[in-house]
Amino acid sequence: MSDLPVVRQRRILEWLRESRSLEIEALAQRLGVSAMTIHRDLNHLMREHPVVKVRGGVVLMETNHDAPSCDLCAAAVSPRTAMIIHGTDEQILNACCPHCGLLLLEDISSPTLVLARDFLYGRMVNAQQASFVLASEVALCCAPSVLCFATFEDAARFQRGFGGEALDFSTVWAQIKDRHRSHYHLHP
Ligand SMILES: [Zn+2]
Ligand SMILES: [Zn+2]
Repeated sequence: MSDLPVVRQRRILEWLRESRSLEIEALAQRLGVSAMTIHRDLNHLMREHPVVKVRGGVVLMETNHDAPSCDLCAAAVSPRTAMIIHGTDEQILNACCPHCGLLLLEDISSPTLVLARDFLYGRMVNAQQASFVLASEVALCCAPSVLCFATFEDAARFQRGFGGEALDFSTVWAQIKDRHRSHYHLHP
């Protein structure tokens, strides 16, 4: 006897609000359905909720009433610039923007997934394959601002309008680490 999909999905969402991330396998067991069914439920939830599938699991990005705070600077995570880092052993780090996200990445030896919000379209994209504009005039969060774009063309177009530098993931990461080091002398 299994629940209606809509009942199941509501339950999954409630559990996600409590724990923020769940494993597909565990969900399937808890609800007495197949992993395939859970995947279908999640696909459904993803259309209306900030739910993101990660390898073997699912993460709730934020809710309106209970926004997560940045694990580096403790600022509220802005829905427009959020970044989320999925480490090994279920560890999940939230960043207010790619600036903090890239600095947090230094502490994660092998992230399984790094997601960032595309600044133009609001979708979560794989940050390691995305492009970034560093130090543009659009400073919504931490300085120097780092904004994420799904494609390099989008980043380049944005850069022509608002300045800064359009860079790929590894270059912007190196630059942020460098600037941070020279600014704060945290890592000699
Ligand atoms: Zn931050
Ligand atoms: Zn920030």
